[in-house]
Amino acid sequence: MKTIVVVGGGFGGIYAIKKLQHKLKDVEIVLFEPNNRFVFTPLLHEVAADILHVPSVTHEYKCIFQKHVTQMLEKVVKIDLNKKTVHGDGGTVKSYDYIIIATGSRTREPPEGVMELKTINDALEVRRKAEHNIESAAKVKNVGKLLDVIIVGGGPTGVELATEMLEFYKFRMKKEFIRDKEPSVTILQSGPTILKGIDPKIQEIAMNRLEMKGIEIITEARVKSVHKNNIIATVNGQDLNFKSECIIWTAGVTPNEVECADAEKQRGYFVVDESLRIIGQDNAYAIGDASVIQNSPLPNLAQVAVQQGVHSANNIIRQIYGKQPKSFKYNNRGFLISIGQKYGAGQVFGVHFKGFLAWFFWRTVYISKFMGVRSKARLASEYTIRLFRRRAKKTQESF
Ligand SMILES: Cc1cc2nc3c(=O)[nH]c(=O)nc-3n(C[C@H](O)[C@H](O)[C@H](O)COP(=O)(O)OP(=O)(O)OC[C@H]3O[C@@H](n4cnc5c(N)ncnc54)[C@H](O)[C@@H]3O)c2cc1C
Repeated sequence: MKTIVVVGGGFGGIYAIKKLQHKLKDVEIVLFEPNNRFVFTPLLHEVAADILHVPSVTHEYKCIFQKHVTQMLEKVVKIDLNKKTVHGDGGTVKSYDYIIIATGSRTREPPEGVMELKTINDALEVRRKAEHNIESAAKVKNVGKLLDVIIVGGGPTGVELATEMLEFYKFRMKKEFIRDKEPSVTILQSGPTILKGIDPKIQEIAMNRLEMKGIEIITEARVKSVHKNNIIATVNGQDLNFKSECIIWTAGVTPNEVECADAEKQRGYFVVDESLRIIGQDNAYAIGDASVIQNSPLPNLAQVAVQQGVHSANNIIRQIYGKQPKSFKYNNRGFLISIGQKYGAGQVFGVHFKGFLAWFFWRTVYISKFMGVRSKARLASEYTIRLFRRRAKKTQESF
C-alpha cells in the first residue's frame, strides 16, 4: 500500500487530501499539522472586528476527512527527500512514497511588540486590544492615541482590516458613550498605491471608498523602526513619527521554514517545475505559499493554493497508475475584496463591480467554499444576523 504524506493542513493541503481520499481507496494518507482545526484565513479580519465567531471560520480536520486519513498533530521539523522520510517535532518519523509540502507562509520580520493577522489568536488579540483601548478611552478625559489604529501594509489584508476596524471602533465607542471623539485609522503603505499587483480599477474603487470613510492612506512610507507605540517611517525622504496604541502589521510574507537539505529553494520558497514537483525530485510536490514555480511565480492566494492542491493530488494519482504528471496551469477566477460591512469590490470574468452587490457576492463565494452543510449554514446565519445587528456585548473567545 502506498503512503502519501501531506505536510500542512491549509488551503493547499486540505484540497489535495480531499481529492486523494475521493479518488484513491487503497492508500495511506497522513497529514502532519500541529493544529486540530483548519482556519479560513480570508475571514480573519471579521473575527478581529467581532463580526464572526471563531467556530464560524474554523473547521475540525476530523470532520473534513474520511477514515483512511490520519492526522499527526505535529509540526514537521525535517524532510529527507533522499530517504523519503518526514520528522515530526513529537518524535514521529514517517516514510512515504509521495509527499506534498503545503506549509504556507508567515509575516516577514514583524517588529517586536506589533500585532499581526495570520492566525485565529492574532485576530483575537487584535479584538482584545481594540476593546481594551476603547474601554480605557471611556474612563479618561485625555484619550491620547487610544482611539488611533495604524495598519502597516496596504495589501488586501490591510485594506479589509482597516475598514472593519473603523466600523468596529465607531460601534463600540457608541456603546461606551464616547460621543465627542472620532476614531482614526491610518494605512502605511510602502509603495505608490494600495492593493499592489491587483487590477487598477479595484485599486481606485478601494482608494475612493477608504478616503470616503475617512481612512488616511500614506503611500511611499517605509517603516524604519517601531518602538512600543511609536513608528518612525520615511515618507518622501522625510522621517516622520506616527503614534498609536494599536499597531497591526500586515506587510510582507515569507515561507514557513522546514529543514529540507536536498530541496532547491529560493528565498526560502521550494522551487518547483511546471508539474509542481520540487526541481529534480520525482515524488515530492510543494504547493501554495510555500513554493514558487521556476520562472513563473504566482501570487500568494488561497485560490492558487487550492488549485495547486488539487493538481498535485491528480499528478500523484497519475503516477500511481503509471502515467506522467501534467503541467499546472493557473486559472485566475477573478478577485473580490470586502471594504467594510455591506460594501465590496471585485472583478470576475473581466467584469468589475462594487457596492453591496459585490460584498454580497464576496460573502456568498466564501460561504460556498466552506466544507460541510453545517459550517455553511452556521456562517450564512451569522452573516445574516450581522446584516441587521452587530454584536453588542464584549465576547470572550479563545482558541
Ligand atoms: C488575514 C489573511 C487574509 C487573506 N485573505 C485572502 C483572500 O481574501 N483571498 C485569497 O485568495 N487569499 C487570502 N489570503 C492568503 C491565503 O490565506 C493563502 O494564500 C493561503 O492560505 C495559502 O495556502 P497554503 O495551503 O499554501 O498555506 P496555509 O493556508 O497558510 O496553510 C499552511 C498550513 O501549514 C501548517 N504548517 C506550517 N508549518 C508546518 C510544519 N512545519 N509542519 C506541519 N504543518 C505546518 C500551518 O499550521 C497551516 O495550517 C489571506 C491570508 C491572510 C493571513
